[in-house]
This record gives sequence, C-alpha cells and structure tokens, in this order.
Amino acid sequence: MSDRPVVTRIAPSPTGYMHIGTARTALFNWLYAKRTGGKFLLRIEDTDRERSTLPAVQAIFDGMAWLGLVPDEEPVFQAARADRHVLAAQELLANGRAYRCYMTADELTAEREIARAEGRAVQSPWRDQDANFNDRPYVVRFKGPREGETVIHDRVKGDVTFKNKDLDDLIILRTDGTPTYNLAVIVDDHEMGVTHVIRGDDHLNNAARQTLIYEALGWEVPVWAHLPMIHGPDGAKLSKRHGAQAVSEFDDMGYLPEAMRNYLARLGWGHGDDEIFSDEQAQSWFDVTDVVSAPARLDWAKLNHINNHY
Ligand code: GLU
Repeated sequence: MSDRPVVTRIAPSPTGYMHIGTARTALFNWLYAKRTGGKFLLRIEDTDRERSTLPAVQAIFDGMAWLGLVPDEEPVFQAARADRHVLAAQELLANGRAYRCYMTADELTAEREIARAEGRAVQSPWRDQDANFNDRPYVVRFKGPREGETVIHDRVKGDVTFKNKDLDDLIILRTDGTPTYNLAVIVDDHEMGVTHVIRGDDHLNNAARQTLIYEALGWEVPVWAHLPMIHGPDGAKLSKRHGAQAVSEFDDMGYLPEAMRNYLARLGWGHGDDEIFSDEQAQSWFDVTDVVSAPARLDWAKLNHINNHY
C-alpha cells in the first residue's frame, strides 16, 4: 500500500437535494481524514449538464456548512475539468486501451437484448477494429479485459471478485465528445491526490471497472471503502416520509448539527455501546474497517434521544 498522505473526498452529483446518505458519506470521509491527519475535499460532479442545477450545488454547500464539515480546499467542479478527462481518453485510445464504437442506438438495443438472454456483458463489434471514420458518430469505450478477474480489496466489504467477462466496455466519451462519470471520477480522484474512496455501495460495481481504467492509465488505485445503504425505520429504502429529507429540513425540524454528526456516525459505525460522543472522540476512534457491511437503519427515537442530550 502507498504511503501517500491521506486524502478523502465526497463527490456528490448536484441533481437533487442533499440527503442524509450524502451527509453520512461526507461525515465518514471527514472523520477518516481527521483521524489520519489527512485532507477532506469536496468535488461537485456536474458532468450531467441536463440534470445538474445551481440550487442543488448551493444545497450541498449549505448542507455541509450546517453540518460543520468544512473541506480543506476550495471545491472542485468536475465539468470545468472536461479537457483533462478528454486527454485521458485520448491516451487510452493511443495505447489501444480504448476504441471508437460506431454502434447505432438500434444496434445497441438489439445487442443488449441478446446479451441479456445469453447472460453476458454487452459486446461491441468495434472492439478490435481500430476504426476511425470522420463522418460517423461514435462513442469511445474502454477496452476491458475479457479474461480473468478483478478483485476489489474493499475496507468495508472485504475482497469482492468480479469476472472480467461480466464487465462491459464502459463508455468514456459520449457521442458529443463529453466525458462520462466513470472516466471523470478517475481522472479527478487521481489528480486531486485522493487516496481513499469512501462512498455508497451502489458504486461497488463501478469500482471494478474503475480499477481496470486506473491500471490501464498506470495510476495507483485508491483504497476502496463502500458504505452500506441507509434504510428507513421499516427496513425499506429511504423514502421522503422515512428520512430521505434534505439535510436542511433536519435544521427546520429542530435537530442540532452536533447531534446529527453524533447520530450519523452511528449509522453503520459505532464505538461499543457509546451513544453520545464528541467530535474529538469520533475523530480519534473512527476507522473505515470498523464500518459494518449490512445496511444501517434510521431510528428516529435514537436520533431524538441524542438530540435531546445536546
Ligand atoms: N457522483 C457520484 C454520486 O453522487 C459519486 C461518485 C463517487 O463518490 O465516486 O453518486
């Protein structure tokens, strides 16, 4: 493992309000950076220009400020870095680790159906063509290995093995030449010096594909730690009625930021039976390896109990 100074980050997409899942991810990244004397950064992943909104960006800033989770550097806006992402795609193309795929939408739909029926990943007929037409629209796909396995050594989930043949060739540049999330996230994390990627486990699958791209670019793969989802009190996915409120609504509901930090720290992590603990204690105790891998459950009674204490 590398001895680079620890850098963690949260990288929310500003496509909706900031909810407690993002707040908890931010808290764990912040705690881990504090614990290790590292840095905690914020990147706004606004590559999806249609769905990203300024009010959502503001809600992230406000939510983080209210929670007292202050990043150690100015926030980075992903869309402003598109040139860097494109350069990485060009490098992969030049090294034969990516290719231009000229499949039409109809061809892709048909291939998807066949792939699903055959229980395999989508395959592009352009993978080994090295084609370069100037008058036809294309996407650039990463050329992942078809053989072997990719193992994610996840600090929360343990070793997770993916068969490379099950991973389709990710699109890294869209038809309009803009980079996709899976490329941008790698380039940005690498250039921001991120050593630990601590995020929701809905990204575990991406971690396998991202690992392959890191390796193809000759970059050090970060330490992965994929956090369990937070479920509602009924055990189902968080819904608006059950805790999927925006962080700002917790403020309106009378919760204190220090109580929220204390409570959120206990969603998937904890320190023995301790219910109430200070930031200093949490910072000295926290380690991602102690996060449990099963989903955490929101418990209003516990949150209220902690809030009453402050
Ligand atoms: N932008 C992604 C999201 O909001 C997070 C990506 C990441 O943390 O790597 O889900």
